Amino acid sequence: MPVAIAEKLCLECGEPIKGRTDKKFCSDACRNIYHYHANNAPINYVRNVVNILKRNRRVLSELNDGREGTKKVHRDKLVERGYNFMYHTNIYRTKAGNTYVFCFEHGYLELSENWFTLVRRDEYLERSGDSKPD
Ligand SMILES: [Zn+2]
Repeated sequence: MPVAIAEKLCLECGEPIKGRTDKKFCSDACRNIYHYHANNAPINYVRNVVNILKRNRRVLSELNDGREGTKKVHRDKLVERGYNFMYHTNIYRTKAGNTYVFCFEHGYLELSENWFTLVRRDEYLERSGDSKPD
């Protein structure tokens, strides 16, 4: 049986690396391509937005600690906890003309300028995809 030699492979192209064992890439070209993709703007953008949405959801869930649909908060309280009003997952408009803004299952209804009622729609949690068996 041949002796197994721990061969390091290039992180970009997967080819074996010759020379020093601390190298991660077979060539400068591969290192550049790898770092270019590592700093991929669209991927970073998506990751940042997802993180904002998660933080928004967390802020709403932490503040919504009263009886469902009764908790009122001022805009300052949301902003001070890092809420970002630019991003949400969906909007729900009632027949009465009220508009609820949601970040996942947590949301709010703007009552008047700067005041919000916090709400939660647990039924959203059921819509976790198409893989759920009947
Ligand atoms: Zn390579």
